[in-house]
Amino acid sequence: MGKVYLTGAGPGDIELLTLKALKVIKRADVIVYDRLANPEILKEAKDGCEFVYVGKADSHHTLPQDEINELLYQLAQKYETVVRLKGGDPLVFGRGGEEALFLKSKGVKFEFIPGITSAVAVPEYAGIPVTHRGITVSFRVVTGHEAPYKEKSQIPWENFKTDDTIVFLMGLHNLDKITKKLIEIGKPKDFPIAVISKGTTPEEKTVIGTLEDIYEKAKDLPTPALIVVGEVVRLHEQLNWFEK
Ligand code: SAH
Repeated sequence: MGKVYLTGAGPGDIELLTLKALKVIKRADVIVYDRLANPEILKEAKDGCEFVYVGKADSHHTLPQDEINELLYQLAQKYETVVRLKGGDPLVFGRGGEEALFLKSKGVKFEFIPGITSAVAVPEYAGIPVTHRGITVSFRVVTGHEAPYKEKSQIPWENFKTDDTIVFLMGLHNLDKITKKLIEIGKPKDFPIAVISKGTTPEEKTVIGTLEDIYEKAKDLPTPALIVVGEVVRLHEQLNWFEK
């Protein structure tokens, strides 16, 4: 029986792939990959490597999670080295933990290979540090997929009154609701916010605004995109090094 490597592909820029990930990709017998993993990475695989696209992006699953789990299990019966390649880090909203639990329950060996998460690297390419001395001492990474006005929200909105930088992943389609909710809990209407689309790639685009006007400015940006809320967003003006 083979082993499954739950591997982070990094946020987009192929050079942000780790050496450890590259090594296992080069010897993989099969690579199961997502929409968010840069397809250029697949060129590093050996001749004869099988590729399986499971196309999961945001919430639009092409293959349901339990079928992906089962697929990984089946592939581990057939191959020595199975690479499950995911955008960013496999355990940051990547469901890598669920896949690992399933594999473990079936007696299949697995390994996690961390990846550079978009939550930190994408703001960084936009010149926005998620922490900055004198501005904020912590940051949160939150799913933006859950609608903020859902009755039983799992998101502790009241906790966002602090100075923490907040990074919302999967949130572009809820941008309007997220900004309204943040104003509702007491953030100023002119509080800084950024939306960064296709971060770390040649098509990266950052739009800066306030909680009040960002929706109109950024709603039509292409995905993947993430949202950064916090005073650190103001540093973009001076530190924006990549898009220039
Ligand atoms: N495991 C991934 C995140 C998966 S959730 C990671 O660690 O990066 C998918 C969300 O990540 C997208 O909806 C988007 O909000 C964000 N994202 C991933 N790649 C991105 C990119 N290149 N630019 C902007 N946002 C990105």
